[in-house]
Amino acid sequence: MTIILAVKPPFELKRLYSREEISEVVRRLSAQISRDFAGKDPLVVGVLKGSVIFLSDLVRELSIPTEIDFIGTSSYGNGTTSTGQIKITAEPTARLAGRHILIIEDIVDTGLCIEAIMKYFSKHKPASISICALMDKPARHQVRVKIAYSGFTIPDKFVVGYGLDFSQHYRHLPEIFTMEEAPDAGQLASDD
Ligand code: 5GP
Ligand code: MG
Ligand code: MG
Repeated sequence: MTIILAVKPPFELKRLYSREEISEVVRRLSAQISRDFAGKDPLVVGVLKGSVIFLSDLVRELSIPTEIDFIGTSSYGNGTTSTGQIKITAEPTARLAGRHILIIEDIVDTGLCIEAIMKYFSKHKPASISICALMDKPARHQVRVKIAYSGFTIPDKFVVGYGLDFSQHYRHLPEIFTMEEAPDAGQLASDD
């Protein structure tokens, strides 16, 4: 499926992963997490806002009790490239000391965001910190990141849907799409 967006320059969304492919990955990750964290009462921390849809599906497949919290960061502006500056904009409210923390990310791109989050949690003396990321773009990593639970390994493309945005839009799409300038973008863009 391809969707042409009526914005300038025009972008097209091409489906990368279907609902079925996403559910299969979510079930696989949930099974691994349920097994590894059994008896540990983990604190599952979603990174706002991109991970919200993924987290909601993931926790409903878990067979173990968990506590849920969130952390907010800002790294991207309204475009598709990182500014490299990471700020923690919202802190979790749960007790962190001595906890087994599982960070839920939508996507690891440069890795700078997850690095800043790891640094934040290590200061609070947790028992362990692990990362679960729905998608990973290894070609773009700038720092070393250890993703214990990794969903899809994807090429260096900008993706939207299933929680991921472009300029705060398209998070609601139930599938994952790549977003690229439409082939006729040059022609249309020179119209005005
Ligand atoms: P980082 O470059 O620090 O690894 O990525 C930080 C954040 O940028 C990700 O958690 C995600 O919210 C956003 N991001 C990175 N790559 C993409 C992408 O391809 N699409 C969208 N929508 N967001 C992305
Ligand atoms: Mg994110
Ligand atoms: Mg974003």
